Amino acid sequence: MNFELDPHLDQLAGQARSFALEVLDDADFATDSWLIHPSREFSRALGERGWLGLTWPTEFGGGGRPPIERLVIFETLISMGAPLATSWFADRQIGPTLLQFGSDAQARRWLPQIINGESAWCIGMSEPDAGSDVASIRTTARQTSSPSDEWVINGSKIWTSGAASADWCYLIARTESDAARHRSLSEFVVDMATPGITVAPIVDMTGNSHFCEVTFDDVVVPGENLIGERGNSFRQVMRQMEHERGGIDRLVSNRRLYDAVMARTTLTDPVLRQRAARIESGYRIGRNLVIRETVGQAPAGFSAVTKTLCTELEVEIAEFCGSVAQMGALEWSDVARAICYAPAYTIMGGTTSILRNIIAERILGLPR
Ligand SMILES: Cc1cc2nc3c(=O)[nH]c(=O)nc-3n(C[C@H](O)[C@H](O)[C@H](O)COP(=O)(O)OP(=O)(O)OC[C@H]3O[C@@H](n4cnc5c(N)ncnc54)[C@H](O)[C@@H]3O)c2cc1C
Repeated sequence: MNFELDPHLDQLAGQARSFALEVLDDADFATDSWLIHPSREFSRALGERGWLGLTWPTEFGGGGRPPIERLVIFETLISMGAPLATSWFADRQIGPTLLQFGSDAQARRWLPQIINGESAWCIGMSEPDAGSDVASIRTTARQTSSPSDEWVINGSKIWTSGAASADWCYLIARTESDAARHRSLSEFVVDMATPGITVAPIVDMTGNSHFCEVTFDDVVVPGENLIGERGNSFRQVMRQMEHERGGIDRLVSNRRLYDAVMARTTLTDPVLRQRAARIESGYRIGRNLVIRETVGQAPAGFSAVTKTLCTELEVEIAEFCGSVAQMGALEWSDVARAICYAPAYTIMGGTTSILRNIIAERILGLPR
C-alpha cells in the first residue's frame, strides 16, 4: 500500500513553508500556535494568499479546492508554529457550520470576512457547571415579544479560547424552558462588542491567558443571528464537533517542539530511541486517520477515535521531550511549558473519557 501523497501536495506543503518564512520573523513561531498564538496580520496574509475558506464553495467566495490541500497547507503551518489562532476556529469549524446550518444570507454576511482573514471568532460552549455535558448548560436566550424578534442572553461561558480578541462568538444557549434537554438549545452569532458582555482572561499554569470567562448580562442579539433550527443546537453541535475533533491540529500541535528536541539530541539511550520510534509510528498512523477524516472516508463518529489517538500522542510527545531534556527542561522554557500544558490536549474539544464513551457506545455499539 502506498501512503505517499501526490507530488503536487508535497509542492503545496513547500509553498506553505516558504510563505510562512517569507512573511514571519523567527519570534512569530511558537508551539501550540493555532490555539494560543494570534496574529491579525498573519490572518490577513493567509486571506490574501487565498488559504482561508480554501475548500468552501466558490459561490460564497471560497476556493473550491479539495480538502486534502487544506490539510497539507495547515499541517505545515501548524507544525512550524505559525500564528494561526486568529483565523483557526473560523476556518476550521465556524465557516463549515454556517455553510451547513446557516441561511444563504448568513453565509454571505459572515463568510467573506473569514475568507479575507478580517474576523476572529470564539466558541461559547462550555460553562462553569457544564463542560462535557453540553446539554446541561444554563445560559439562556429569551425572545423578546414580536415584532422586534430579538433575543436577550444571560449567563456565563468559560474556557472560551480567544474571547479577549474575538469579533464574534458562536454561542450556544438554552432557548426552550419546557422542552427535553437535548431539544432546548439554540445557536447564535453574537457580536462581541455588544453591551453587556464582559471578558475576563484566565491565566493557565504556563502563564498564558488565551482562554477566558465570558459573562452575558442582558445581551441583545438580533433575530437574524439565530443559526439553523431553533431548539436543534444539540445535533448541530455534534456535527460541529466532527470538524473540531478529526483535524490535523489534533496531531501536530507540538510538532515544532518535537522537531527542536530531536535536532538537539543524538538519542543514544535505547529506551528513548524506542519511545521516539513509537512517536514516529504514531505520527504516521495519526496522519492516516486525519486524512481519512479529511477526505470523508471515516465512519460517522470516528473522529472520537482520531482525536483520542492523536492527542494522547501529543501528551506522550511532551513527556518524551521532558525525558530527553531531563534537568535541562527547567532551563529550556519550551519543554517546561510543554510539560505543564500537555494535559490540555486530551481535555479541550471533549475529554478522552468522554470520547471513549462515544467510541464504546456509538462506534462499537457496546451497552451503556
Ligand atoms: C486549552 C483549552 C481550550 C478550551 N477552549 C474552549 C473553547 O474555546 N470553547 C469552549 O466552549 N470550551 C473550551 N474548552 C473547554 C473544554 O471543552 C472542556 O474543558 C471539556 O469539554 C471538559 O469539560 P469540563 O472542563 O467542564 O470538565 P467536566 O465535564 O467537569 O469533566 C471533569 C472530568 O470528569 C470526566 N467525565 C465527565 N463526565 C463523564 C462521563 N459521562 N463519563 C466518564 N468521565 C466523565 C471528564 O472526562 C473529566 O476528566 C477548552 C478547554 C481547554 C483545556
